[in-house]
Amino acid sequence: MGDLSLRILTGFVLAIGLVAGLPGVSAQESVKLDGYAEWKRGGELVVDGQRVRTDAATKWKGRHTGVETVPLGDEVRVTGTRQDDGSVLARQIDVRPNSANALFEADVLAGTAELEAAWLRDKLAFEPRDGGQIAKIGEVADSGPKVERVRRLVARLAPPYVPREKLRVYVIENKEWNAMAMGNGAIWVFSGIMDDMPDDQLAVVVGHELAHYTHEHSRRQARRGIWTQIGGLAAILGAEAIGNDAVRASVQIGAALSLSALNAGYGRDLEDQADRVGLRYAYEAGFPVADAPGVWQRFLEKYGQEDRVTNFFFSDHSRASTRRRNLEREIAQNYRR
Ligand SMILES: [Zn+2]
Repeated sequence: MGDLSLRILTGFVLAIGLVAGLPGVSAQESVKLDGYAEWKRGGELVVDGQRVRTDAATKWKGRHTGVETVPLGDEVRVTGTRQDDGSVLARQIDVRPNSANALFEADVLAGTAELEAAWLRDKLAFEPRDGGQIAKIGEVADSGPKVERVRRLVARLAPPYVPREKLRVYVIENKEWNAMAMGNGAIWVFSGIMDDMPDDQLAVVVGHELAHYTHEHSRRQARRGIWTQIGGLAAILGAEAIGNDAVRASVQIGAALSLSALNAGYGRDLEDQADRVGLRYAYEAGFPVADAPGVWQRFLEKYGQEDRVTNFFFSDHSRASTRRRNLEREIAQNYRR
């Protein structure tokens, strides 16, 4: 397999697909959040789609001691308890700058940039197959009314701290319901879901994809894949230290294989987070989120409970019915005030 096809495969695998929920949460339940500071409002911080409050007893880790100084876009980890009003009261909050040198960030960017360029070269989205063969996914449009429609949605949905020039929008001619965000900011939406869904519903799907991008799910998932495959930091550091392209390539292949072999449980928490955060994006953009669970109802009716049918390639999603219930709980906790 040539280097290009390897990198395409890697980029392909690292690109994460469509939309997913939150386990049962009741008041006073313990909650852990791992996300980013996305909005500040009335002394609350929005993290992982949740409204996070602090009080005098909150323990601050890192260099901040109050919500006021936390920069939007910083990584935030919270442990706290769910309050009766649906917000999360932080017992401990850890804020750190979003590092551009995180493990696998460069691999994700290089691999996805390679795949994006390959798809744009002939305006054709395809899946690499053995022996240099390809499986056609659909023709790619980078301009025109459909692209403009998605572009308008993306501009509305992306949180303010995300530079709009980092996001590139494409439409793939394919009648299935699907969409994908690459780790490098390329957003791909199938024409099928655009034809069948009004903007209010498409916003939930595009919001989900944006959350994959803003929450760096490609690199997080790649990191987990490596852990699974070769079992530890030492092996990775060893590969880097050797400086051997073949070894590094095997690490990438390892990531690819383990990602593709994933099944329920591995990527589901990231999919669920993308659902929570994507719902927040739709809400903040002014879309009527009360109808968001209906999007999953529609997926359920079209595709049944199949996990894989609604996925883009290898990614894992919660079952459509679970996702619908999760969104209903999210709305009850966060958007009914
Ligand atoms: Zn997804």
